[in-house]
Amino acid sequence: MSENVYQIAIDGPSGSGKSTLAKGAAKALGIMYLDTGAMYRTCAVAALKAGIEPKDTEAVKEMLGSMDLNVKFEDGVQHMILNGEDVTGIIRTPEVSRIASDISSLPIVRTAMVDMQRKIAADQSFVVDGRDIGSVVLPKARYKFFLTASSEARASRRLLELNSRGDYSQTYEEVLKDIIWRDKQDSERAASPLVKVDDAIEIDTSDIGIEETLDLLLSYIKE
Ligand code: C5P
Repeated sequence: MSENVYQIAIDGPSGSGKSTLAKGAAKALGIMYLDTGAMYRTCAVAALKAGIEPKDTEAVKEMLGSMDLNVKFEDGVQHMILNGEDVTGIIRTPEVSRIASDISSLPIVRTAMVDMQRKIAADQSFVVDGRDIGSVVLPKARYKFFLTASSEARASRRLLELNSRGDYSQTYEEVLKDIIWRDKQDSERAASPLVKVDDAIEIDTSDIGIEETLDLLLSYIKE
């Protein structure tokens, strides 16, 4: 890896503002952005399409061997391609969120995705967001951030995001319940659980807006 290539890891639970901030930071710094959650979501879509139980290791192993998953960037925008089909538009439903959390707990899935993520971020500077970026995927990232926010603040944001896409399938209470369930599952799983590593800078985004949080994050990078 050349000296000019660097990576920024942003980890945190769902709804902590990771993707908005990662996108904003990448734009401000003129580098690429990789959303690793989208990759686990695409595995979930593959399982859903094939009628596979997301915790059935053997069936998922077979699925991984036969599926063709690609991450494509068009003008810096990430597209998820599954067996030749662009599935980017269908990976953010509540159902896919739950299956993604289940399927991402399988070590075979993590090994395959982490390998792809490292390859993608090897030759160009990237902001990468997820749950295990600073701990497992890019332990040598130049900067590491860990975002947190109260479950309630995160549920409100998630609901707004779903509604903005025309998805009114869940109430605030249902979104909050899903967030609490996913937090528990993502933090308690044996394989690469969501953890804050010692060298990550923690930012609580509960009470500060996106602009302010982005300024704060960039101020650490410019130091
Ligand atoms: O970040 P996002 O909510 O899109 O991620 C969807 C799911 O994928 C998470 O709930 C988590 O279980 C899983 N994930 C993961 N490791 C990552 C990114 C996402 O396990 N690096």
